[in-house]
Amino acid sequence: MSFYFGEKTWPELKEYIEKDAVVLLPVGEMEEHSLYLPVDTDARIAKYLTNEIADEVKDDIPVLVMPTVWSGYTPKFVGHWPGAMRVRPQVFTDMIHDICASLADMGFNKVVMIDCHGQHAPMLNIVTKLIADEYEKYFVVASPLVFSAKEFNKVRKSGRGGVSHAGEWEASIIMKINPELARTEHFTDKDKMRYQTDFVSADTALGGQKVCWSSWGIQKTVNGALGDPTQASIQTADAIINAVRKNFKKFLNEYYTFKINDLEQI
Ligand SMILES: [Zn+2]
Repeated sequence: MSFYFGEKTWPELKEYIEKDAVVLLPVGEMEEHSLYLPVDTDARIAKYLTNEIADEVKDDIPVLVMPTVWSGYTPKFVGHWPGAMRVRPQVFTDMIHDICASLADMGFNKVVMIDCHGQHAPMLNIVTKLIADEYEKYFVVASPLVFSAKEFNKVRKSGRGGVSHAGEWEASIIMKINPELARTEHFTDKDKMRYQTDFVSADTALGGQKVCWSSWGIQKTVNGALGDPTQASIQTADAIINAVRKNFKKFLNEYYTFKINDLEQI
């Protein structure tokens, strides 16, 4: 039996609601990813990793996977290159809110938005606050990049500055899941992030950013990347995917069994 929400009948969904299933909502974007990765990279990765996560937990907890949200917000600047779908932030927030509110109205109590696009966190976070105020249900935003950062950083070849947009993390995953779509002959480190200070980390996987300041406004990009894909590899992708499976399994088990009033069990 599949875990795809869209393949269920309503009586089957009712059974999932009665089991208090966790619903996973993969959220990506369509935008240029330099000369070498497809424009649907974020949506493609969101769909792939969410399926991996569901496959990992399906024997432990009732889980459903929603269709992937493939378009959302990206800054106007990214529209310099063909490929960017630019849904306004308030429209995107409203759309995700309404999807989550529909699930809450059906009776689902646990939804995890699988965030695979660097711009979306503030909007998805707002949705969790709106849903909490309206329903007293506490939905979650979780990022596979954050969940895999520790393991990825152990095996990555690019130094600081290699991972922000179309860098080693994304290039490795596309090389693994759709090798024909990774134009490795065009890989270049021209757009590696080189500006780093006490406040700007220059690398989303290594972390340490202390201010909200868009990388697009910090370093000029030649081909539309902010990172270095030149040493991406399938082995690195395997490390990422294994970490995503393991760490999401741990978190989803915690989220599924968590009871807010059961303080003794925390
Ligand atoms: Zn991306």
